[in-house]
Amino acid sequence: MDYQASKPVDPAVFEAMKPFFLKKFANASSLHYDGDIATQALEDSRKKVANFINAAEPREIIFTSGATESNNLAIIGHAMRNKRKGKHVIVSEVEHISIHNIAKYLQKNGFEISKIPVDFNGIIKLDKLKEKIREDTILISVQLANNEIGTIQPIEEITKMAREHGIVVHSDAVAAEGLIPIDVQQLKIDLLTLSSNDIYGPRGVGALYIRKGVTVNPIIIGGGQERGLRSGTEDVAGIVGMAKATELAQISMTAEAKRLTELRDYLIKNILEIIPKSHLNGHPTKRLPNNAHFRFDYIEGESLLLSLKDEGISIATGSACSSKTLEPSHTLISLGLLHEEAHGSLEVTMGQYTKKEHIDYLIEVLPGVVERLRKLSPLTSEEDM
Ligand code: PMP
Repeated sequence: MDYQASKPVDPAVFEAMKPFFLKKFANASSLHYDGDIATQALEDSRKKVANFINAAEPREIIFTSGATESNNLAIIGHAMRNKRKGKHVIVSEVEHISIHNIAKYLQKNGFEISKIPVDFNGIIKLDKLKEKIREDTILISVQLANNEIGTIQPIEEITKMAREHGIVVHSDAVAAEGLIPIDVQQLKIDLLTLSSNDIYGPRGVGALYIRKGVTVNPIIIGGGQERGLRSGTEDVAGIVGMAKATELAQISMTAEAKRLTELRDYLIKNILEIIPKSHLNGHPTKRLPNNAHFRFDYIEGESLLLSLKDEGISIATGSACSSKTLEPSHTLISLGLLHEEAHGSLEVTMGQYTKKEHIDYLIEVLPGVVERLRKLSPLTSEEDM
């Protein structure tokens, strides 16, 4: 129930990668015959990833070590390259922690950051975005969908507004990829972050789409691989794995999204009906097919998580990337929830091996766990029981 934090590698992806560990191990920069094989695999992979998001040209894809690096390259790379045009960057309040920390880094380095608030469902407020756009705004970063509450953003409206002002738009597509279609030309996105593991590829690989004509400075300097934008010997096996994962996602996405949406809605309906004082976080319909995010009054999410762990359920209260802080999720606070409400949340993310019987098991176990914890909770009053 925690697929957002990690997904298994698809067996077909693993098979596609194997030869590049064992036999076809040459460096893609080598000029000999074996090097050519690695280069060919790298360029075929670039085509596949480009095709996955309908990029106009394969060369618009730069392979990286994952989403964090792609976010760094997009935002720091673009900001540093374009600082003469302006030093103002806009990000949404519900971005992944990596984006917020990149924004802090830019702030320390002389940039000004504005944050766009969201409504109670997690959708960014377009009127506030409009207000924050300035002459010196060079970049807007808004995710395609949220990695915690699954809310899908109106990205076309954002890019339309940005284009009118000549501002580049970056979007972190990690939570959305493989679940909703992504067409960078139609959506008019300029920089797009992709990760491999989120579509059942290996971890430690990702990509940044950089629309032709959009400029970024490299953040990793070295031998000049990836058009000089990301130096370091390419992880050909990992990249082949990511490309295979994009192919598989394209084939299965429509049917899988339908299957997961049905499971999601079945889960949400049952939990909200069975458990008193339970709520859904995020948008009721504009949400990822695999995401159900609940809030239970008078309960602390961590004790819920630990009780469910005892029942054999692996589940999260929020983003694994932020689990080391005791602070409530910044995403939930941005919705306008109180700290104690945010702390009482449970995040269910499903994946390709999630079956109805798993959902039924959660529906069977969760009400009893919530009831037991509420009895122990100092926050529960007699009349609430
Ligand atoms: N962006 C989003 C939306 C994420 O959920 C994550 C974490 N999976 C990242 C970026 C960072 O990914 P990674 O830790 O693989 O670099």
